[in-house]
Amino acid sequence: MGAELTEESTQCHRCETAWTIDSERRYCQQCGAEDYSWQPPKRPGNRRGWGGCQYTLRYVGPSGTFSDLLVYLETTFVHKRVPHPWSGTRQVSRLVYKPTCPWCETDMSEQSTNDYGVDFSELRFRCPVGHRVIVISTDGGLAWR
Ligand SMILES: [Zn+2]
Ligand SMILES: [Zn+2]
Repeated sequence: MGAELTEESTQCHRCETAWTIDSERRYCQQCGAEDYSWQPPKRPGNRRGWGGCQYTLRYVGPSGTFSDLLVYLETTFVHKRVPHPWSGTRQVSRLVYKPTCPWCETDMSEQSTNDYGVDFSELRFRCPVGHRVIVISTDGGLAWR
């Protein structure tokens, strides 16, 4: 990919042995030098701050043919005013999931019309052609099947 000026040193600055990467540090097995400037790569992790995020969901269902298929999903907050018995109207915010169909790359619409919170076990979506995706919430984050 072309010669970069700032070549990330993957080798020990003393003896040019390739660094050994521990979970938290990078060091040379050969001479014991340690690269203090090195930072362990950040894991994507689960973000708990929801809304306005983009996710890539992997397939967790039983079919092996879909295992490489990723579903891209965006979340947004939709605010709307709903009638309220005392104050006339009240603003409610709803988190909306917008997956993209992995087969035809169009926006999918949600099939259930119920309001839901952040916690859910599964949500069903369908694209205009009729492909179906079920977004599920797992311990490791969102996934689809
Ligand atoms: Zn070394
Ligand atoms: Zn589709």
